[in-house]
Amino acid sequence: MHIFQNAGELAKALSPDIPVLLNRPHAARRAARYFVEQFPGKSLYAVKANPSPELLEILWDSGITHFDVASIDEVRLVRRVLPEAVLCYMNPLKQEQSIREAYHEHGVRIFSLDGIEELDKIERATGNAEDLTLCVRIRVASEFAEISLASKFGVDVADSAELLQRARQSADELGICFHVGSQAMSPLAFVHALERVRTAIVEASVTVDIVNVGGGFPSIYPDMEPQSLNHYFKAIDRTFEDLPISYSAELWCEPGRALAAEYTSLLVKVEKRRSNELYINDGAYGTLFDAAHIGWRFPAQIVGRQTESTMAEFSFYGPTCDDMDYMAGPFILPDDMKAGDYIEIGMLGAYGSAMRTKFNGYGSHVEYDMQDEPMDSLYLGDNLDRNDRENVVSFPGA
Ligand SMILES: *Cc1c(COP(=O)(O)O)cnc(C)c1O
Repeated sequence: MHIFQNAGELAKALSPDIPVLLNRPHAARRAARYFVEQFPGKSLYAVKANPSPELLEILWDSGITHFDVASIDEVRLVRRVLPEAVLCYMNPLKQEQSIREAYHEHGVRIFSLDGIEELDKIERATGNAEDLTLCVRIRVASEFAEISLASKFGVDVADSAELLQRARQSADELGICFHVGSQAMSPLAFVHALERVRTAIVEASVTVDIVNVGGGFPSIYPDMEPQSLNHYFKAIDRTFEDLPISYSAELWCEPGRALAAEYTSLLVKVEKRRSNELYINDGAYGTLFDAAHIGWRFPAQIVGRQTESTMAEFSFYGPTCDDMDYMAGPFILPDDMKAGDYIEIGMLGAYGSAMRTKFNGYGSHVEYDMQDEPMDSLYLGDNLDRNDRENVVSFPGA
């Protein structure tokens, strides 16, 4: 496959009519190395953020050995791509048949749960196995996160003692896990959640082997510039070390967004302009799901053409016939944008390329590897120079 220097070179060479995913293996590698070297425990990858087999292999080659999977198809996928990976089935609600297949056919030993019924189900499906790691998911607040994960899963700490005690009896290793919500904009999210873990441990009087702080580590977007991940890691480390079980317990995390976001940007073509609305060839049913449905703003820039025009605010319409196929933005682009122009939209490696559908006959795309840097980065700090490949292996604290 031809590798391009950047999106502009690709747009000029190919003039693509369908959306192009622009992958940067070096950016994914750098994110993985950052977590492997800097997080004070083990880092799992949450596969739902982006299940691309190429990305899974890059993360594995960079030292990520454990993968958080949430469905039997994700179990099968990761097992096929990475036969030696450790799979952690972290959806608290699973089909009994899926648990059976995961345990007996794919070697899965690590499961999460948030109720007695699920515990009974896991015991039945595994034939009361004695080699299980069971992670009890507790409910924590989502107050610092851009996307809440506080409603659907998790047992209230006040009701968790019996479940922790019963899981302790069945499990070879007992874990406690939580999720502070996605794109958590403050390390305090993890500090508060770990305080709930402390309460749960004390009230149940159980020993715990694993504390899994879940995902939620942020990436960087317009208007959402978080602190360095190092501040998150330090706050987690300090609070974890204060727990009564820290001398014997392992610390885990399972980021999706933070490992995948910088891997992929998107090249789209402008089909039409109507005042400050641009009709482009990808949208709400494709890579721009979050831009449409939760109003997420992504960085955008014109590529393949020089312009001296001042900047203006634009919104986008996607290619399908639905009014809902609309991304409000605003996306900041030159005022002289016109049909035929190409736009690079950044930070779509997490919850972007994973969201594509074939609705209305759209969704076809091609992919190429890029050599330049992502449009923004949490791993380069002030070193971000998009054309400088030298900074590929350097990140703060390395
Ligand atoms: C989605 C999810 C993650 C990843 O969350 P990010 O916000 O992308 O880091 C981790 N763990 C569980 C259980 C999840 O559902």
